[in-house]
Amino acid sequence: MFKKILIANRGEIALRIIRTAKEMGVKTVVIYSQPDVNSLAVLLADESVCVGPAESNKSYLNIPNVLSAALITGAEAIHPGYGFMSENPDFAEMCRDHGIIFIGPTPESMRELGSKAGGRDIATRAGVPVVPGTGILENLDEALLAAKQIGYPILLKASAGGGGRGQKICRTQEELKKNFPQAGEEARLYFSDPALIMEKFLEEFRHVEVQVMGDGEGKVLHMGERDCSIQRRNQKLIEEAPSTLPDTLRQEILAAGVRLAKQVNYKGAGTLEFIVDTDGNFYFMEMNTRIQVEHCVSEMISRLDFIRLQLEIASGEGLALEQADIRLEGHAIECRLNAEDPDKDFRPSAGKLENVHFPGGLGVRVDSHAYTGYSIPPHYDSLIGKLIVHAPNRNEAIAKMKRALEETVIEGIKTTVPLYIRIMDNNFYKRGSVLTNFLKTRMEM
Ligand code: ADP
Ligand code: ADP
Ligand code: MG
Repeated sequence: MFKKILIANRGEIALRIIRTAKEMGVKTVVIYSQPDVNSLAVLLADESVCVGPAESNKSYLNIPNVLSAALITGAEAIHPGYGFMSENPDFAEMCRDHGIIFIGPTPESMRELGSKAGGRDIATRAGVPVVPGTGILENLDEALLAAKQIGYPILLKASAGGGGRGQKICRTQEELKKNFPQAGEEARLYFSDPALIMEKFLEEFRHVEVQVMGDGEGKVLHMGERDCSIQRRNQKLIEEAPSTLPDTLRQEILAAGVRLAKQVNYKGAGTLEFIVDTDGNFYFMEMNTRIQVEHCVSEMISRLDFIRLQLEIASGEGLALEQADIRLEGHAIECRLNAEDPDKDFRPSAGKLENVHFPGGLGVRVDSHAYTGYSIPPHYDSLIGKLIVHAPNRNEAIAKMKRALEETVIEGIKTTVPLYIRIMDNNFYKRGSVLTNFLKTRMEM
């Protein structure tokens, strides 16, 4: 096992990684930007290195500074968390060039799977269905022709996109003509790659994803699936495991996820995202080649520590588990605690936390870097923590979540907590009939 690792991230996920590392006797170095100097991760890590000012591209995305921090402190490996450099194959390759282990898949498989175009290709080769759509579109004429064949409405996606950004719905030929150049320009700006793909735009479906772990030598195990259908602006708010899909469909999706990951000899933790339509058809959407925000619900039902598994795989200890060892029990739900105002279109609500009190009790887990007196810097995403519950079944998990949300106190800023309390009371939610347009159709938002 590693003696020391560097964590190239911030917030709750930096803390999450530190916690497991401590339990494993692995020393931690955390990087931070100037406004994050008072963060819990900096306080709890063994060492910390300031890598730059607030702007992400001068600090958390500053490759020379991050690599220097690892080299100076003698860290053998870098855990990238999620977001930031977690899906950057160039960074993974530079780590390798400097003799530092990147805790994640190889740069080669990140390149293959990292783009939406590449992912669709591999899925097709693995015999996994994809949403009707295209590879990379060379020009507007090609896009117009493809849209005619697929049928409007269509969705333009940045092939390198992520975080729910870089998508444009086009309902008519005119909209496509207008959006195509704009989408390409935005993709170039945000993802340094103008490449666009097209998919049929589906109005109503569930987002279901499969958690996998591979050893890079052909073994790929799954830790069940998650339903992440409650979203705003294509970003997840509430996730649960298992999904409420019929068991045969669940098994088919799980098998498809494993098949796809095996196709690339996947190493490390990964997630395969699927669309499941109201007729029970499923389509592969994309693979996230990293630990995911919502990994905790799968940890709760499998009682496995995914960060530990990541460290074991990356350090060469391999994956000792077999599929039969993984027994999924009960039901887990996660609510993302966001510093946002749900009544004002989820506008970010940065500021000082005047009073913070988190819930407790059997089956309640809080992963958060927030504390009373902490100021949320406006420069990063709005996630200030996650509330996770685990109970024997879905009904009890909902009741537990409601109770835990009602105990939660976060004063000084607006949060998504009041909205989640209302969702736990919603009859459609209780029945498990939830599609990605839930907030619009069931909560009138
Ligand atoms: P998850 O399913 O883990 O929530 P997301 O796609 O929502 O996956 O991304 C997780 C985090 O990473 C979010 O904080 C999001 O803002 C960020 N993120 C994901 N992809 C990118 C990207 N390409 N560029 C910048 N941030 C990203
Ligand atoms: P990202 O990399 O930004 O996470 P995804 O391809 O995973 O991009 O899509 C993010 C979200 O956008 C999905 O969870 C879903 O809500 C929505 N979405 C993706 N593909 C489609 C589609 N073809 N039609 C309608 N909505 C879609
Ligand atoms: Mg996605």
